[in-house]
Amino acid sequence: MSQSPILLNEFRRQWSETGAQVLDAVREVGESGWYVLGKRVDAFERSLAAWSGRRNVIGCANGLDAIEIALRALGMAAGDKVLTTPLSAFATTLAIVRAGGVPVFVDVDASGCIDLDLVERELRADPGIRFFVPVHLYGQAVDLDRLAAIAGSGVRIVEDMAQAIGASSRGRPVGSVGHVSATSFYPTKNLGALGDGGAMLTDDPELAASCRALRDYGQTGKYVHDRLGSNSRLDEMHAAILDHAFLPRLGGWTERRRAIAQRYLEGITNPAVRPLPAPAGSDSVWHLFPVMVDARHRAGFAAHLEQAGVRSGVHYPRIIPDQRALESVPFEVRSGLDRARAIADGELSLPIHPYLTDDEIRRVVDAVDGWVPR
Ligand SMILES: *Cc1c(COP(=O)(O)O)cnc(C)c1O
Repeated sequence: MSQSPILLNEFRRQWSETGAQVLDAVREVGESGWYVLGKRVDAFERSLAAWSGRRNVIGCANGLDAIEIALRALGMAAGDKVLTTPLSAFATTLAIVRAGGVPVFVDVDASGCIDLDLVERELRADPGIRFFVPVHLYGQAVDLDRLAAIAGSGVRIVEDMAQAIGASSRGRPVGSVGHVSATSFYPTKNLGALGDGGAMLTDDPELAASCRALRDYGQTGKYVHDRLGSNSRLDEMHAAILDHAFLPRLGGWTERRRAIAQRYLEGITNPAVRPLPAPAGSDSVWHLFPVMVDARHRAGFAAHLEQAGVRSGVHYPRIIPDQRALESVPFEVRSGLDRARAIADGELSLPIHPYLTDDEIRRVVDAVDGWVPR
């Protein structure tokens, strides 16, 4: 195989398209002489608010902090229970623990997102659970009508939309139901920076003010600290790059991801490879393209793809409650976690970034269809 491998992300292709605009943004920030939380952060926050239909966007340092600050802004106190999913980036649970919360896990459904039947059952059984962090996993949207009903019952929701910016559920955009929603601009995300970044989204002006204070040492005015916050500020440079070079392309990138997903869904006919089903009503932005294979054959499948010049990933090989780091903190498991474990054992992610060429899409489909489990 002399062709170069098909990667999960192609940042160099993104640079050749966007580099000139990125450098313009960097120059503008350099010449302005103001580097942290300034006009460009304000401007990007307004752009993303308009793009997402939310009243307030508050930039911060990363997605982990966005979830943690959102929970603190909602008044989560040490020892409060927080319902969440066992199958996600570790950051989802880490944010809960760092905010002093006690993660409460229930299983996922066939889509890999948290099972809302179990969520509703647990919230009825234990009225002591006042907080819920659902994750729009793989770019899919958790059922937002049901989330809205849960929010209506008084449970405070932080939507983790780090993988799903632009996704919707029966026309309702992700991030529109959570009291605060949290996203990440880590480079691999659908809207990624040239470094770390994150944001909180909310329609509530008081929650927005809390998030603003908490990302900046808890300052409500210069040298006035009413609460203990953190240093989770967004740089002017990242904000300018996102605002001028990347956010204007997000719609086109998402369209391309959707077209690639369609090609995979139609092209892949190997009965041993099954795309994960979507949650009801979800219009995905395809952060990842997850498929399931028999757990015994996953390593062989990945090796076959590698041989054919196709890189793949696993999201995620170990469920969060099984991670060593959780041994030292309190958490609860309120259902069997068999489906989460089955996905951890049998999932594999195919390349689906917006810079894949048509020829590469064909090569991925051919490689998948040419695999015989043994
Ligand atoms: C990436 C990610 C995060 C954390 O974002 P960082 O910016 O890397 O801290 C949280 N949740 C999910 C689902 C993610 O994919």
